[in-house]
Amino acid sequence: MAISRFSRRVLGMVGLGVALPAALLAGLGIYLTLRISDAVHAQSLRYNLYIAEQVASCFEQELLSSLEHGLRTADIAARNGEGPAAILKALDDGRAELGPPAFVPVEDLSTYDMLLVEHQPLVFGPSPDPPAGRWFAGLLLHDADGRLLGSGGWWLDSGRFLTTRLRSVFEDRLPQDARMYGGIESTRGLSVSLVGPDGRQSALSRDPGYDRTAYTEPLSGPFTGYAVRVAAISSAAVVWADRFVAFLVLFIAMIGVVLIGATFFGLRYTVRQVELAQIKSSFVSNVSHELKTPIALIRLAVETLELRRLSSPEEGEKFLRSISREAMRLNQLVDNILDFARLEAGKKVFRFASVNLLEVVADAVESFRPRLEDQQFRFEVDLPADLPPVRGDATALSQCVLNLLDNAMKYSRTRREVRVTAAARRDETGTPQAVTVSVADRGIGISPRDQKSIFEKFVRIETGLVHDVKGAGLGLSLVDQIMRAHGGRIELKSAVGEGSTFTLVLPAVRGVEAAPPEPQEQVAS
Ligand code: ADP
Repeated sequence: MAISRFSRRVLGMVGLGVALPAALLAGLGIYLTLRISDAVHAQSLRYNLYIAEQVASCFEQELLSSLEHGLRTADIAARNGEGPAAILKALDDGRAELGPPAFVPVEDLSTYDMLLVEHQPLVFGPSPDPPAGRWFAGLLLHDADGRLLGSGGWWLDSGRFLTTRLRSVFEDRLPQDARMYGGIESTRGLSVSLVGPDGRQSALSRDPGYDRTAYTEPLSGPFTGYAVRVAAISSAAVVWADRFVAFLVLFIAMIGVVLIGATFFGLRYTVRQVELAQIKSSFVSNVSHELKTPIALIRLAVETLELRRLSSPEEGEKFLRSISREAMRLNQLVDNILDFARLEAGKKVFRFASVNLLEVVADAVESFRPRLEDQQFRFEVDLPADLPPVRGDATALSQCVLNLLDNAMKYSRTRREVRVTAAARRDETGTPQAVTVSVADRGIGISPRDQKSIFEKFVRIETGLVHDVKGAGLGLSLVDQIMRAHGGRIELKSAVGEGSTFTLVLPAVRGVEAAPPEPQEQVAS
């Protein structure tokens, strides 16, 4: 336990020191990128609005000057008395792109609307003849004597006008420095539309300079309240910035993840190496201490017996008991180490047979009894008259019981009581499901936090008696592995200061109450 708690602390500390700053940096990178993206967006929109204003004013000027120029020429032709054909020619020469020239004689004028545009009366109206859907826009024409002749103008083709005029606006009129974001390409984010007084869009030229996106509806006058609207839609610069920012965010996030991952795994590896080094040294020192203590006690007892420095025959027996007890302790330790090594290498062979657990437990308990009694433990054994058989390796199961007894003895302070019980767990029908063996003590207990980790190899809890009591941290890990190999498990109930109860749970053999089968060997995996 000492080691893994240390690792966790180191991992936590280095994690805080490296992974957290890495995560903060990645977060900062993403934040700054988003701020830059916002700035680019704002700049692009500002630019688009600037372009929009330019286009709007150019477009309006273009439309008005086109009408004015063409109509003025026609007016002059009329005043010169040149007749409708000359008027039409004048209109055509003036601004052919506005649409086909048209002349409405005075008797037809009543079907058209009259508007005042810049103090000039203008005639507007839908076309009664083909080309259908166009509207007429013209000026009142008088002859040299001042008599009204009719109206000269054009069947306006607004779509055509929008596209041809806008191209020239974009290509000729916009200042050069306005193209800094990619020339005409960047103006593809603008749309120019004609909006009626009801707010409905009547004509649209999107992506100026790209005629195919222009459209217009059949228009009908009067055109009071009509407006030209230029709007900025997402521009190439913004799209480019968006893609760049998305890529940058992804890139930074990936670097952050890789950095954090590398830091984490690097640290875990380092900590694992430190752990292994610590495990090695503490394991060697724990085991050598555990080996040395019984050997020293055996040597002392043997020397005393040899020199016959005994005050009474009982004392002789006491030394013999001590030799037997310490030899058993040695034997248990060596068994644990060897079995642990075999299990780790996958070479542990279990000899499975039908086992009467009562016998196994009773033997283990009896062999351990002297050690407990020497330490003045109150030892209670409560075994039922019979138990369903289990399938298992008797030696390995006995080793489990001995390890639990050893721990119960080691981790008890003043309340020296150990109780061993066995029972069958049955289902509702009374059929035995499992056989259990429990070893309970009233010792130091184990906190809920440590109750899982104590079954890991080499884990020893830092608190309690661990400094006074020697151990290699192998016992419970071994018991756990042996139980798993038997298809069983080990359960633990414990409260700090109250004591612990470890219970071995083994599946009961169903319907094998008769002759035990031949032993079978099985290699633990
Ligand atoms: P070891 O006893 O050699 O240290 P174990 O694997 O047998 O190793 O036990 C692991 C740890 O679990 C012990 O170091 C001890 O802290 C705790 N432990 C085991 N059994 C008991 C018990 N009966 N009461 C209190 N703590 C125990």
